[in-house]
Amino acid sequence: MRVKSCTLRQVQLPLREPIRTSYGEHRTKDVILVTLETNSGSLGIAECVAMASPSYTEETVETAWHVLQEFLLPTRTLSQEMGLDQVRQFADSTSWIRGNSMAKAGLEMALWDAFSAESQIPLHELIGGQIRDVEVGISLGMDDDLERLRERVLTAVDFGYRRIKLKIAPGQDIAPLRIIRDALPNIPLMADANSAYHHCDSLSDNWIQSIDDLDLSMIEQPLGYDDMIDHAYLQSHMQTPICLDESIRSAADVRRASAIGACRIVNLKPGRVGGFTEAVRVHDMAKKMGIGLWCGGMYETGIGRLHNLALCSLPGFNSPTDNGPSDRYFEEDIVDPPVQFKRPGYLQVESLNGVAHRVNWNAIERRTVRCETFSL
Ligand code: MG
Repeated sequence: MRVKSCTLRQVQLPLREPIRTSYGEHRTKDVILVTLETNSGSLGIAECVAMASPSYTEETVETAWHVLQEFLLPTRTLSQEMGLDQVRQFADSTSWIRGNSMAKAGLEMALWDAFSAESQIPLHELIGGQIRDVEVGISLGMDDDLERLRERVLTAVDFGYRRIKLKIAPGQDIAPLRIIRDALPNIPLMADANSAYHHCDSLSDNWIQSIDDLDLSMIEQPLGYDDMIDHAYLQSHMQTPICLDESIRSAADVRRASAIGACRIVNLKPGRVGGFTEAVRVHDMAKKMGIGLWCGGMYETGIGRLHNLALCSLPGFNSPTDNGPSDRYFEEDIVDPPVQFKRPGYLQVESLNGVAHRVNWNAIERRTVRCETFSL
């Protein structure tokens, strides 16, 4: 395969309802789509999951565009003849660029996608996975109205979601979780703090006991996004398994976290670790270290959802994914048909030779706010 051009496109999609986390509120989703065209006319596409503000990691749509244009697209191997080995090694050839994992993943995953289209080998097969049904959970934002929250949870369970995840922050944690636990004593329930609790010292024994009493399947990233030591300390005082999200940027991070007992579970998002190659390494390391694994979401469009689903074809994923049907967040998705439940609460890994042929280019055209094509 030889890639001849890359198109970067910034697309703005209205969200069905605003999303509230400990970081703030979002009403639209801005996303960079990376499209590669090969000499033989195959297309590969992927989504860069950097958001408008640097609140989840330090990257933003603007920084990702800059790093893609100035540093990643000029990578020499990108314009050379590539086989599967070269695609697999592409991430390593960009390792001189520090950080910027989401920008890297946008390009790297588009490359895998193009290779799948060109070789006509399904993406899940290329990364070593198998067709399987994937259990799906829902991630709910914070809600001041606890009765409304209870209704939203019951509606989600009626719709088929297999696990409830609630965003929490100091003062908005025990009470809303207790409402859900009392309404549904047996539902797998977890909390995601997105680093909202800054220091271990701020967590009282009473708070830890209250969390443990809720019988959560895990608490995700309660402490600093870059602080594994405090997480290890907290895990040693807490029965509830800690899941790390923001802190895990590589397979080496999984090894470190496991070595010091900072978590028992990892939330793997390919965009946060630089793409498919490193995501597979994270998966393999988690399996080796006996760390639980599931695939979280970044409010992806259908393009990112289909890629995350391909990743979930690997056998080490053992908790429900956050990647549900497209219509959860968007009135209109940019893939057609949209991602939908195969049966309530389950998506199926699809056998796709890249996702470009599923893309609704008209919808993308209508939502594009910036577009530039680069010859390679
Ligand atoms: Mg999270």
